[in-house]
Amino acid sequence: MSLSIGIVGLPNVGKSTLFNALTEAGALVANYPFATIDPNTGVVEVPDPRLTALAEVFKPPRTIPATVTFVDIAGLVKGASEGEGLGNKFLGHIRECDAIAMVVRCFEDDNVTHVGGRLDPRSDIETVDVELMLADMEGVQRRLERTRKAVEQKREKDTGELGVLERVQAGLDAGVPARRLGLTGEERELVRELNLLSLKPVIYIANVSEADAGRDSGGAHPPDGSGSVGTPLPPHGSGSVGTPVDVVAAIAAAEGGRWLPISAKIESELRELGPEEAAEYLAEMGLKESGLGRLAREAFEMLGLITFLTAGEKECRAWTIRRGTRAPQAAGVIHTDFERGFIKAEVADWRDLVELRGWAAARAAAKVRIEGKDYVFQDGDTVVFRFNV
Ligand code: GDP
Repeated sequence: MSLSIGIVGLPNVGKSTLFNALTEAGALVANYPFATIDPNTGVVEVPDPRLTALAEVFKPPRTIPATVTFVDIAGLVKGASEGEGLGNKFLGHIRECDAIAMVVRCFEDDNVTHVGGRLDPRSDIETVDVELMLADMEGVQRRLERTRKAVEQKREKDTGELGVLERVQAGLDAGVPARRLGLTGEERELVRELNLLSLKPVIYIANVSEADAGRDSGGAHPPDGSGSVGTPLPPHGSGSVGTPVDVVAAIAAAEGGRWLPISAKIESELRELGPEEAAEYLAEMGLKESGLGRLAREAFEMLGLITFLTAGEKECRAWTIRRGTRAPQAAGVIHTDFERGFIKAEVADWRDLVELRGWAAARAAAKVRIEGKDYVFQDGDTVVFRFNV
């Protein structure tokens, strides 16, 4: 399971620069709209200090981290949903992603044209949202008519889908993206098949100037990333005062969403450096971790994903599962046989394994627990599965 994140935003906000920095791929970077016509995809290993520490103890021939797939989606412009600019094809690429990273330009640079003429994060976010909403409207309308008819003719029972569709439609008509309607998990499930763009979880990336790169991200962080704000954007005043970064932060907080300050420029410079120089440079900028690590962590949390680890002489590996997954299903992520023949899981805290330098010593020190089929996996659990097939 590789989490996929679509990088969207207006032209010239730094999407390709960030994508390249994140993936080390060679996508075209240029100072004009439409430089990136084809979506580029890059699969990236998620930096994981736990896995690195375990690998130092077990010294296996291979270490396999979790991955994130980034898709660089070409500049959304006004009219994208109508097939002007780059058209629907690109919106289709967003549909396939688990989450959206919306890059918002917060850096000043007279040499880089701003499509809107000036720095205005609020208006930029609105423009992107409008395109996402326009792309959703037709599908919602069609589904609404079909479901309404089926329920009226008693061919189908109303499962509640109709009510959710009506709310989504009313929201879209009023300029409220579906993700800001405060839908519950169950309500989301009812319209999941529609794959609504405006319902996708969004991480706002404030592409800041170097001086702002060390700012802490913030905002409310409910586990499913849902908010309950039924207005298009926070009222002027709350979402429009302060620096561009403050505006992005306020908008993210108002929808219970997440945001990150990232300097695409710093990230691309980091890629040129060796690990030690990179660490020094990060520290100099007031940063603890690269943008990739921070972004991946936010995305995992937002989507309710966690990582468990397997560690041994043959391989150290990170596995991605949903929060709340029980032991047999977690085992099933490795192999269906593990789930089918599940007997028990031996679980240790990765720190104990590192400190005691291996499973044998951890067992001897009573640091390994035996867990059965009802055990709910926790982030960072390191495990050996016992199974019988
Ligand atoms: P895209 O159209 O959103 O993919 O934007 P690009 O990544 O192609 O960037 C457009 C221009 O902005 C390029 O000339 C980049 O070098 C420049 N740029 C991107 N990020 C930054 C940044 O953080 N600071 C500055 N000063 N320039 C940037």
